Amino acid sequence: MAGNLDAIVIGAGFGGLTAAIKLKEAGFDRVVVLEKGDRIGGTWRDNTYPGACCDVPSRLYSLSFALNPEWSRSFSPQSEIRDYMERVAGQFGVTDKFRFNTEVEKAQWDEAAGLWRVTVKGGETLTAPILISGLGQLNKPGYAGIPGRDSFAGESWHSARWRHDIDLKGKTVACIGAGASAIQYIPEIAKEAGKVVVFQRTPNYIVPRKDREFSAFEKWLYRTFPAVDRGQRWLIWKLMDMRFEAFKLGTKQAEKFKSDALAYLDEVVKDPVLKAKLTPDYPIGCKRVLVSDDFYQALVRPNVELVDSAIKTVTANGVLTADGVEHPCDVIIYGTGFITTDFVNPVEILGREGKSLSDAWKDGAEAYLGVTVSGFPNLFMLYGPNTNLGHNSIIFMIEAQVDYAVKAMQALKSRGARALDVRPDAFARFNTQLQKDLTETSWAGSCSSWYKTASGKITNNWSGDTATYRKMTAQPALADYELT
Ligand code: NAP
Repeated sequence: MAGNLDAIVIGAGFGGLTAAIKLKEAGFDRVVVLEKGDRIGGTWRDNTYPGACCDVPSRLYSLSFALNPEWSRSFSPQSEIRDYMERVAGQFGVTDKFRFNTEVEKAQWDEAAGLWRVTVKGGETLTAPILISGLGQLNKPGYAGIPGRDSFAGESWHSARWRHDIDLKGKTVACIGAGASAIQYIPEIAKEAGKVVVFQRTPNYIVPRKDREFSAFEKWLYRTFPAVDRGQRWLIWKLMDMRFEAFKLGTKQAEKFKSDALAYLDEVVKDPVLKAKLTPDYPIGCKRVLVSDDFYQALVRPNVELVDSAIKTVTANGVLTADGVEHPCDVIIYGTGFITTDFVNPVEILGREGKSLSDAWKDGAEAYLGVTVSGFPNLFMLYGPNTNLGHNSIIFMIEAQVDYAVKAMQALKSRGARALDVRPDAFARFNTQLQKDLTETSWAGSCSSWYKTASGKITNNWSGDTATYRKMTAQPALADYELT
C-alpha cells in the first residue's frame, strides 16, 4: 500500500478504538487515530454530567471481544465506560496509536497517488490509502437556535460540556430540554438545587430502566466463567433485537410498548395536569424511547416545575416563554442535543475530482450500508448515516462496520488493487430500498427528531434489526464496488 501509514482513523470514541484494535489484529499495524480531545472516550469522555450513564445494558454495551465482568451496575455509569475504553486500549496494545489534541480539518483523496491527504489544525498533512471516520453522530453540541443565549447574566452550559466548577446547591436552575441526557441529570441536580425549572418542548415515552448493582457473586461468576458473560450478552442482544417490531408503525408490539410506557407514567405521576403535559401524541419510537427510574419521580418533587410553553427567548434574568412568563434563574443548562444530520462536518472531505462530501449530501447524508460513499474511494465510516438504532447497542453496529472495513482492506491487498469505490448504481439501489423500508418504521411517524433532516429524510437510523445488518455487512460484496 502507498504512503507510510496503512490507515488514518479520525476520532477516539468506540469507533476509533475498535478500528485501532481490529486493524492491528489484521496486520495493518501502521495506523494513527487522530483525536481533537485529550484522551480516549468520545461521547463517554465529553458527557460528564451528573447521573450520566448508558441506557443500554452494560453486558451488551461493551466490545464482544473485550467482555468486562467488573461492571458495577446493570447500566454502567459514564466514568466506568470511559475507563473501560482506556483499559481495553492498553489491553490490546493500541494506546500508542492515538494522537490527541490533533484536530482534523480536511481530508482530500489524491487519485494519482491513491492516498488520502489529511490536514490537521496547524497545517501538518498525513497520508494513508485508507481513511476511517470514527466521528459518529453525537459529537457536536447543538443549542437549537434558542435566541438570547448571550444575553443571560448568569452561568450557562451545554449538557455535553458540564461545568463541574459551579455548585448548584440552593440555586434556581433552568433546564432546557427533556431528552435522553436531561432526564439523567435533572433527577441528580434536583437533589441539591433550590429549584429546577424544566423546559420541555415535546414529551417522550419513558420506560423503567430497572437499574441495579451487580453483586460480588455475579462479578465472580462473570470473571470465572466468561462463557456465562458471553451467553448473557447474547441473550440481551437477542431479546433487544426481537423488540425491533415495536419500532414499526402500527404493529401489535408497538401498541404494547406504548401502553407499557403510559402505564409507567400513570403509576408515578398522579397529577392529571402534569400527566397530560408528559403524554406524547406521536407513535412510540418516533423519538428515542427513554429509560429512567427517576425522571418522573424527580418531576413530582416540590422543587421541580415542568414548563411546556415554548421558549421565546433567553433574557438577562432567565427564560421568557411564549405565554409571556419570565422564569428567573441563576443557571441555564442546555440539554438541547447535538447537530446530528451533517455527520462528518466540520471535517471537509473531498473525494474524486475534488467533490465535497457535504455537497454530495446536500439533500441529506447517505451511505452504502452506512459505511461507504460513491465517489469517495477507500473512505469507511463508523456509526455513519442510517446506522443509529432505537432498540439495540450501537457498539454491535460499530463492530460490524469495522470488520467490514478490515475485510475490504484485505480484499484490496489480496487483489493488488489500490482503491475501492462503491458503484453509483449499487449505492442508489441500497439507499432507495433503505428509504422505502424506513417508511414502515416509527421514525417515519409524525414527530420531529434528531434522526431526520428538516425536510423529513431519515438520515440517521437503520431500517431493520441488527442481525440483518450484521448479515448484510458480513462480507463486502465486491461486485458492488469498482476496484482500481
Ligand atoms: P436530544 O435527545 O436531541 O434532546 C434535546 C432536547 O432539547 C429535546 O427534549 C428537545 O425537544 C429539546 N429542545 C430542542 N430545542 C428546544 C427548544 N427550542 N425549546 C425547548 N426544548 C428544546 O439530546 P440528548 O438528550 O443530548 O440526547 C441525544 C442522544 O444522545 C440520545 O437520543 C441518545 O441516542 C444519546 N444519549 C444516550 C445516552 C445513553 O444513555 N446511552 C444518554 C444521553 C444521550 P424536542 O424533543 O421537542 O426536540
